[in-house]
Amino acid sequence: MIVTIDGPAGAGKSSVSRKLAERIGFQFLDTGAMYRAVTYLALQRNLDLRCGDVVGLAQGMEIVFQDAEVRLGGEDVSEAIRTADVTRRVSEIADNPNVREKMVALQRKIAEGGDYVSEGRDQGTVAFPEAVCKIFLTASPEERARRRCLQLSEIGVQADLKEVLAAQNDRDHRDATRLVGPLVKASDAIEVVTDGRSFNEVVDHLVTLVSQKVGR
Ligand code: C5P
Repeated sequence: MIVTIDGPAGAGKSSVSRKLAERIGFQFLDTGAMYRAVTYLALQRNLDLRCGDVVGLAQGMEIVFQDAEVRLGGEDVSEAIRTADVTRRVSEIADNPNVREKMVALQRKIAEGGDYVSEGRDQGTVAFPEAVCKIFLTASPEERARRRCLQLSEIGVQADLKEVLAAQNDRDHRDATRLVGPLVKASDAIEVVTDGRSFNEVVDHLVTLVSQKVGR
């Protein structure tokens, strides 16, 4: 059984999806980590991110999700795929329709026969259109940028709210306008706006929504 959670950057999807999966006894699939992993590999090999070779990388990628860790060919890359450099460049990889095709095939293979909360941009629209419950998790751009600044300050990085908002708007625009797999709310998805709601309130709300849908 599949539950999809899509939405823009900074809506809190990853942490909420991980907790939701834990609460309902499903596994968690972080599809953003997959695009990040291809980007990380391509940067490591000094490849032009727009060249055809990145498709081969995506095809041959041995990615394993183990608890909260992301492993590539045995190496723990959980932190390496979240650097500012990878975050800035990942759209170049995610825009490639051939890479997306490989990633969606891999996502379906991983989730085959299992119970998964799958989180990303196109999970309810492209990867799992038949999912039993689809959530579109979002928040206002200002709220998302504020949260990002707070996260950064917690790790000792002082960021300028205006700059964070501008970079986020740029990423939103790229995610929403890509030709294949754009960020768009599936017609049968339930929209959840998280402005003014705590993490626990959002998770509780999603647990209720999913329970209603799957009848558990
Ligand atoms: O969710 P996260 O920020 O880790 O995703 C990194 C990038 O991967 C996003 O900015 C988006 O461009 C891309 N992505 C995507 N489709 C998905 C998941 C992520 O295009 N299903």
